Amino acid sequence: MEKIVIIGSGPAGLTAAIYSGRANLQPLVVEGFQTGGQSGGQLMTTTEVENYPGFEQSIMGPELISKMRTQAERFGTRFVSGDILGVDFSTQPFKLNRSSGDLEARCVLIATGARANILDHPSVKKYWGKGVSACATCDGALPVFRNKPIMVIGGGDSAIEEALFLTKFASKVIILHRRDAFRASKIMQKRAFENSKIEIIFDSVIEDLFGEKFVQGAKIKNIKTAELKDVQCSGIFMGIGHTPNTSFLNGALQLDEKGYIVTKPFSTATSIKGVFACGDVSDPQYRQAITAAGSGCAASIEAERYLSELGE
Ligand code: NDP
Repeated sequence: MEKIVIIGSGPAGLTAAIYSGRANLQPLVVEGFQTGGQSGGQLMTTTEVENYPGFEQSIMGPELISKMRTQAERFGTRFVSGDILGVDFSTQPFKLNRSSGDLEARCVLIATGARANILDHPSVKKYWGKGVSACATCDGALPVFRNKPIMVIGGGDSAIEEALFLTKFASKVIILHRRDAFRASKIMQKRAFENSKIEIIFDSVIEDLFGEKFVQGAKIKNIKTAELKDVQCSGIFMGIGHTPNTSFLNGALQLDEKGYIVTKPFSTATSIKGVFACGDVSDPQYRQAITAAGSGCAASIEAERYLSELGE
């Protein structure tokens, strides 16, 4: 039986592993593959990370994860792979049903992250990482997007926040939304309408993307008139929401209406004592590598206290 199992190997899970390893808890990290077919979380599909403190010249997402992983190993973290398919938190020890062998643990940290929703369109897959991205904060400041027109898809707070952020770099930001009204909060809408660098195109969807090596524009379709139009842009950002990776929990923990794990205020404690959640899986708000790492640290400290209460 394990003292502590950490599910997920993004910045939250790996920071929790570093802290609990240093606390001599010999953590076991389960690296899953359910999102995007690789472990390491969303940073594995990010290019340059310019806003993670300590790397003044930026660092590539996969390299940052690799460094965190090595640091966790240094303090005795063990890694196993395989998705967790189901959990039983009704008895101690907790039971985890893993694709490659079941596990038992006194304490579980869930750091399975969230995945950005991506338009299910072949041209989006074709230009993914070649001008098409789901994270303006991660990629928006890259030189390839500077002083060029950029498109953001979506009509929620994320899309508008991304669009406003991108106006700092782009010559113009086009928000493309499938309806004739935003669902974003009024204040965010006001900011978008009042920003002279933002152009809004309602009632429209992507029909196709074009470009040679990198995306150079989108063919869009007005869904009311069926009119097609080419819009030049050097980047296309998905702002169509995120989905937390919580389906494997199957009702074992309290989730919010969007599927994020509910944690107690100023804590990573979940609805089950001894189960903690950190990173994007319990954060619909910030979703940054640094906030995930910070909450991984908090979860580890809370787990350590819980284990000492149990006498471990
Ligand atoms: P939302 O679910 O609120 O919005 C998603 C948007 O994407 C909607 O406008 C939706 O269109 C559109 N969309 C979804 N699927 C598609 C598709 N297949 N094709 C085209 N468009 C699509 O997600 P957000 O990430 O924006 O926000 C999530 C939560 O986080 C919200 O509660 C939000 O308030 C909060 N948040 C708050 C922020 C802040 O306060 N600064 C910043 C970011 C998020 P439609 O409207 O037609 O459904």
